[in-house]
Amino acid sequence: MLANVRTGILGGTFDPIHIAHLHAGETALFAAELDRVLFMPAGEPWQKGERDLTPAAQRREMTRLAVAGIDRFEIDGREIDRDGPTYTIDTLLSFPSDEELFLILGADAALGLPSWYRWEAVVERAGILVVPRPGSDVAAVAKTVPVATVLDMSALDISSTSVRALAASGRPYRFLVTPEVHWFIESNGIYTQMRAGDMVGSANDQEESS
Ligand code: ATP
Ligand code: MG
Repeated sequence: MLANVRTGILGGTFDPIHIAHLHAGETALFAAELDRVLFMPAGEPWQKGERDLTPAAQRREMTRLAVAGIDRFEIDGREIDRDGPTYTIDTLLSFPSDEELFLILGADAALGLPSWYRWEAVVERAGILVVPRPGSDVAAVAKTVPVATVLDMSALDISSTSVRALAASGRPYRFLVTPEVHWFIESNGIYTQMRAGDMVGSANDQEESS
């Protein structure tokens, strides 16, 4: 009998997708022997609130560019192609039941998991793989979400918030994203047209999943 497909899901607003997202995906792929990692841009996150997100089409395109041509990395548009917010549980239940699912979360996002809608059903359906993130205590993750597996990864102090701020102020961020994503941001002036108030938000937001 063929073994079930093992799929990792790394969701985020990806505004923009950066190298820590990609490194987390590859770390999970390797550690949990996944067949593939789906990078899943969020539609309209219900908890973000503080700033306007870059339009979905552009976040989708940056995500597509970041994973294009990378073996076992795919973009999955099922959340961003829907209108409005999506509950993680609904996303998980939209996969075939014989597919083994793993949510890949940064430690900041993992700490918020017990507040998600039907979180018990979430951890029932999917394994939880957590990567360290500066500013979030992984020991606390083990306590808060005991079923989580914390992966061994060097914490990278990179966030989309900091990339947006660097791009908006003309400082270097080129090597924090892939070359294609850098080109797309620059050629469309995505973050240079932001209003000043758009730069709030922190690495500790737990906005994208629920
Ligand atoms: P923002 O600053 O806009 O919140 P972000 O960098 O936190 O952006 P998100 O799209 O919010 O990126 O996060 C998607 C997922 O990736 C979350 O699970 C988050 O914890 C994880 N993640 C993002 N950056 C890192 C990082 N540097 N290390 C580990 N995990 C990360
Ligand atoms: Mg975030």
